[in-house]
Amino acid sequence: MNAYAKPLPKIDALNAPYWEGARLGELRVQRCLDCGTLSFPPSRHCAHCLGERKDWVATSGRGTVQTFGVFHRLYFPAFEAELPYAVVLVKLDEGPRLYSNLVGVTNDAIRIGMRVRARFEPVTDAVTLVKFEPDEGAAS
Ligand code: ZN
Repeated sequence: MNAYAKPLPKIDALNAPYWEGARLGELRVQRCLDCGTLSFPPSRHCAHCLGERKDWVATSGRGTVQTFGVFHRLYFPAFEAELPYAVVLVKLDEGPRLYSNLVGVTNDAIRIGMRVRARFEPVTDAVTLVKFEPDEGAAS
């Protein structure tokens, strides 16, 4: 396997549980222990109650495409073979939203509102990326 040439995330104390979950095939989000609000990306304070006590919970990994864009321009040479590629904003069934790639579907078939599910792509020993694919079993 060749070295991974694309940008990698910086894993730190705040986001480490997310990356640990991804390695285990779980899409995790933060949960506020004071009010129960689920959030992503991770933060030190709850956006709802400003609480600082947090833990992490696994989501279903399922959600809906809220919006998307198709990139035709090359910003990093390592992405050249994938142009044009889609970046989607997924709203998880549990509420939080995150940006990712949508794979396993042609770009012209992507629709706002389509059901998707997480898929996990290990790219280094430490990093497994969370991407999404169409959720074939879901009504669209
Ligand atoms: Zn809270």
